[in-house]
Amino acid sequence: MCHSTHLIAKPLFFIAALLTALPALAAETSLEFTPWKVVKSDHFIVHYRQDEAFARTIAQKADKDYTRIADDLGYRRQSNFWMWDNRVNIYIYPTREEFKKVPGVREWALAITDYEAKEIHSFSGQPNLIDGVLPHEITHLIFRDFIGRSAEIPLWMNEGVAQWSEPVRKDVATRYVRALLKAGDELPLKNVFEMRIKSLGSGKRVEKFYVQSVSLVDFLIQRFGGERFTAFCRLLRDGRTLEAALGQTYPDLKTPERLESEWRAFAGSTV
Ligand SMILES: [Zn+2]
Repeated sequence: MCHSTHLIAKPLFFIAALLTALPALAAETSLEFTPWKVVKSDHFIVHYRQDEAFARTIAQKADKDYTRIADDLGYRRQSNFWMWDNRVNIYIYPTREEFKKVPGVREWALAITDYEAKEIHSFSGQPNLIDGVLPHEITHLIFRDFIGRSAEIPLWMNEGVAQWSEPVRKDVATRYVRALLKAGDELPLKNVFEMRIKSLGSGKRVEKFYVQSVSLVDFLIQRFGGERFTAFCRLLRDGRTLEAALGQTYPDLKTPERLESEWRAFAGSTV
């Protein structure tokens, strides 16, 4: 499940955050008047208000995630970008309440990412922040930079690769998909490929969509490597049909039917 909201346009976060600070909340919102401080790593600037040691941990872990994800996706050669003035800004709010005042944040969101501004906003005090939420959002940003900013990336690919970068979620998805396949309860891949944000709905179907997306990405990268995977993503972004993109990138698979049967064999047997 994606717990974030991804924004295209840069909203006026801070003006609106101040406007919503009602007097009744004054005691809780006093932190809003604590200025942001920053710590920097090679690829990130972490903005924080309270806990410098925690901000440093985040900055170092984000750098490690960046290197790991860029390597996995076959982008080691471009590892110089996202440095200096191009670093990504991560804002860590001290409380969820304060984070929720950022315009566009939905009730259930754990982070919000502004692609154009290269900003991630989230909050401390959530157990999955460092190992789940941040790698997920960092991957969305890396993937978007690598594949192209104006890209219309298929949902399964975008969410699949972001969850794939969260070690715990990947393991959960692997087990979940194996159980689905065993029970014959999985979504046909055709439905996974066609899924859009608007048609997601809720409940079991969404869960299946998310875990099968991770599993597919895992299959393609483990079997054929990250560089071929990103080449495949670019062809789909450019409007190539699935058949054409498969034929060009994965001669061993060629057809969606073959992809489905190979993926089933892989996902049904991984331990
Ligand atoms: Zn996501």
